[in-house]
Amino acid sequence: MAFDLASLRHRLPSSPVTRFAPSPTGYLHLGHVANAIFVWGIARALGGRVVLRIEDHDRGRSRPDYERAILDDLEWLGLLPDIGTMEELRVGASKFRQSDNGPVYDKALAVLSRNGRTYACDCSRKDIAAEGGDPFNEETRYSGRCRERGLGPGPGYGLRLLIEPGAETFLDANLGATSQEPELQCGDLLLRDRLENWTYQFAVVVDDIRHGVDLVIRGEDLLASTGRQIRLTRLLGRERPPVFLHHPLIRRPDGAKLSKSSGDTGVAELRRAGASASTVLGRAAWLTGLIDQPADVPADRVGTFFER
Ligand SMILES: [Zn+2]
Repeated sequence: MAFDLASLRHRLPSSPVTRFAPSPTGYLHLGHVANAIFVWGIARALGGRVVLRIEDHDRGRSRPDYERAILDDLEWLGLLPDIGTMEELRVGASKFRQSDNGPVYDKALAVLSRNGRTYACDCSRKDIAAEGGDPFNEETRYSGRCRERGLGPGPGYGLRLLIEPGAETFLDANLGATSQEPELQCGDLLLRDRLENWTYQFAVVVDDIRHGVDLVIRGEDLLASTGRQIRLTRLLGRERPPVFLHHPLIRRPDGAKLSKSSGDTGVAELRRAGASASTVLGRAAWLTGLIDQPADVPADRVGTFFER
């Protein structure tokens, strides 16, 4: 048993509000399904509730047909939100879709800008890569090049948040005590890019606050983002950040992470090939180590992985 919720329970809120938050930049694949099993399963085991949020902050890459396909696949799997409804997302604007909520992010940005903590930046990815030379830093840290340049704001400029030095220490429910220094990892955080898309880091923190999320359940690949999101949460006025639980990812036999381009693992493909929803859920549970061998798992049983 790779995952023992009983031993982590004291670190988790009781009756948590958690979320499943796909980006409609591709179709649902087994990696998403694995995350969904953790999200719905842990929520069920703890008497919690799930928010379904469409993270389409990147307007250039998000597509309505991907969103419809994601909703269809989730409904087929039997994974429905407890807060908000599928129907609401299908018929029109919703507070659970980022692109419908521009004013919410404007307001949050105003809070951060109030004390002169934000500034305009015209650096391209290329500029930043050319400046950042730390080979031990997995992501390219922003040097603060535009801090004192007094640019914009205006069209064609991104907006950054000044990140002060200092560690963010948190107790990851699964991985234990963790400490990260956002200023050393990423430097001043991009809130809105040059094409006026809100960034993932910013939008997700604003959303977790407004949706009342107190438990974030996601894959280990997002662990590095946690310290900066906790910092941002506090700067936006929420003293108690959510509890974070980072779970193992599904890996292909060659060790590579699953991606949206992995056609053989798409939920729609598996569906078309005749797999049942229980089979798809069971396969994802098996690939992430929740069960020792593939077995059919109906959606109303995903809580049992975490109830022992
Ligand atoms: Zn810059």
